[in-house]
Amino acid sequence: MSNLIDNPQSNYAKKRYIFYSILTCIALILPFIRIGGNHFFLLRFDKKQLHLLFNSFDTQELYLMPFVLIIFFLTIFFLTTLGGRVWCGWSCPQTIFRVIYRDLIQTKILKLHKNINNKQKPIDGQNFKKFIGVAIWSVLACLAAANFLWFFVPPEDFISYVKNAGEHKFLMGIWFFITAFIIFDVVWLAEKFCVYVCPYARIQSVMFDDDTVQVIYDDKRGGKIYDKNIKLWKKPPEPENECTGCEACVKICPTHIDIRKGMQLDCINCLECVDACSKVMGKLGKKTLIDWTSDNSLKSGKKVNYLRFRTIAYMVVIAIAAVILAFMSTKKEYMLLNINRTSELYKITKSNKVENAYTFLFQNTDNKEHAYYFDVNNTNIKIERPKDEIVLKAGAKKKVVVVLSSEAISIDKNGNKPVSISIAAYAKDDKERINIKRETIFVYPEK
Ligand code: SF4
Ligand code: SF4
Repeated sequence: MSNLIDNPQSNYAKKRYIFYSILTCIALILPFIRIGGNHFFLLRFDKKQLHLLFNSFDTQELYLMPFVLIIFFLTIFFLTTLGGRVWCGWSCPQTIFRVIYRDLIQTKILKLHKNINNKQKPIDGQNFKKFIGVAIWSVLACLAAANFLWFFVPPEDFISYVKNAGEHKFLMGIWFFITAFIIFDVVWLAEKFCVYVCPYARIQSVMFDDDTVQVIYDDKRGGKIYDKNIKLWKKPPEPENECTGCEACVKICPTHIDIRKGMQLDCINCLECVDACSKVMGKLGKKTLIDWTSDNSLKSGKKVNYLRFRTIAYMVVIAIAAVILAFMSTKKEYMLLNINRTSELYKITKSNKVENAYTFLFQNTDNKEHAYYFDVNNTNIKIERPKDEIVLKAGAKKKVVVVLSSEAISIDKNGNKPVSISIAAYAKDDKERINIKRETIFVYPEK
């Protein structure tokens, strides 16, 4: 009894289901949450806009993207070095979808599998129930595909597009295609996707070290079952070998592998075999033979070494990239202005004024309408055109022809060279927050 208390049975399945439920709720709710009109993540190709951490960025501001991608990939490398294929077992949509389809719909609801602990046995017959299972999953796949698209088309727009599906055939086609792929993937490809298609499975092992947490069979206690991929016996023969040969760990494995062979690319880190063995060994008052631990920890009997040079280095680099990203995002401009001179250098008017013409491209990168205008930092130079403010809706752009003029007297004063001027543009209704400066030149004629 004391052994049972010392070695409680693991229940990773329950923890995973709770974690999946939380992730699913977050994925479904997050696209609906807006702060200041912006989403947590939204990449709008139609409006060339990125929303990130409830800030909106224009495509001209995508200088932030490299930092976002660096942080994304470094976090994957860091988590893989630390916890092996923790992503596959705990967060990957493929794993979550398969658990919903196989364990919930097929096994719990439709009783197509007799026993949730045997994922190897194929389903015999029962075609009608199988069809019902695919039908239920198809509805959920439709929702999952829509949920994915909400990170590219905001849900409020998506719903109105669906109401006018005829006018949005392209989007409906993409939705249909993603839904069809999810149905095919989950119903027919199943774990073959993880084993043969997923590129992450191929590259993750190079990031492992002896302290990486993995699913490991303790062959010192359990006994050697395989020798270079050749199965020696079902149950090891020596009396001190603890493995009972029950193969509960094999039957429950969704990727149909025997973890007693050693670490394999096919293992998705679902920890079902750990639960299965801990139940078997727990009844005998012993500790599980398959555990979620590191090689070094298993050999030494000490705790897993999480803080080591590689993991600390990853954390430092991720922290630096995050600080740079946070700093750069504070530099966001809520309006953009590009100034181009026209091909004509200058013009002298009948009233003996010098005029220079420009094209100003204003863009409102804020999430509400603003009226823009600008000042020139040279008192000799006046704004001839436009006289009225430029009103732009959220996200809108507008080209404006701008004419600046200077009295003839300035010609003598400044000679025949171009004069640098500074344009201070601003939103009239929010000058404190929305203002930018651009440099350009004003050209005077020859003396
Ligand atoms: S579940 Fe444990 S005891 Fe049973 S075969 Fe697997 S490793 Fe051996
Ligand atoms: S060996 Fe199979 S059951 Fe065990 S963690 Fe890997 S995929 Fe899951």
